[in-house]
Amino acid sequence: MAWRSSGATNRDLIENLWNNKLIKDARVKEAFLKVDRAHYAPSHPYDDRPQSIGYGATISAPHMHACAVESLLPYILPTASNPAPRVLDIGSGSGYLTHVFAELVGDSGTVVGVEHIPQLAALGERNMAKSAEGREFLRTGRVKFRVGDGRKGWVETEGEVREGEEEAVERRGMGWDAIHVGASAVEMHDELVRQLRAPARMFIPVDDDESRIEQHIWTVDKDGGGRVERKRLFGVRKPTYITVLSSLGQCFSPG
Ligand code: SAH
Repeated sequence: MAWRSSGATNRDLIENLWNNKLIKDARVKEAFLKVDRAHYAPSHPYDDRPQSIGYGATISAPHMHACAVESLLPYILPTASNPAPRVLDIGSGSGYLTHVFAELVGDSGTVVGVEHIPQLAALGERNMAKSAEGREFLRTGRVKFRVGDGRKGWVETEGEVREGEEEAVERRGMGWDAIHVGASAVEMHDELVRQLRAPARMFIPVDDDESRIEQHIWTVDKDGGGRVERKRLFGVRKPTYITVLSSLGQCFSPG
């Protein structure tokens, strides 16, 4: 549920998300524990609810962030066959989720946060620079904040290939193992699907409800052979700002 995971401290909040089974994997829990939400949420950082961060944007509620990371987890952890995962966080806003992803991708991994409001891209970077670990992620290029229209995804140049990912890039290209979309889309943008590696997953809220009360969270999976499968997971109540992913609905398990 949206509110019952609130806590007095960062640890409290994460333990409550864990006890309420919104975080289910110990590696996800570990990653969330490493990121102090107070660096990203302007007030009441340990409440399980979305909050305004200015410019008509919100930092999503912790249980929604948990849901997104749980869903994308198999694609963002380094493995023998994929030692340098590449994650695109579209609508990076506060930068909080961008930071959580960075905790999971490992030394050679990459997380790019794309934001169409320059002041928010700068905010995400400033927030990340509040911790020593965040500063290290920015210094080494594990995390980059970029200004752009996320509907077009993001294409990195060859000069941005990181040490340790050369072989993976050679084999699998510069696309993304996971794309998280933090703002609702009116359609499944083909360009985003095209930028998924094979295999890869996109987590995306879509405005697909006739009643205009709800949005639905979808995943788009591309398998190793490039075959694409779309799945509608669950509904979330629509927020005031229709471009912003609602965090008011329950986070149901995708299965
Ligand atoms: N995930 C972030 C922000 C969620 S709010 C967090 O939890 O802090 C959605 C964000 O998407 C806002 O910051 C908004 O500015 C951004 N956004 C909306 N449309 C966009 C677009 N077309 N391209 C890039 N960012 C966009």
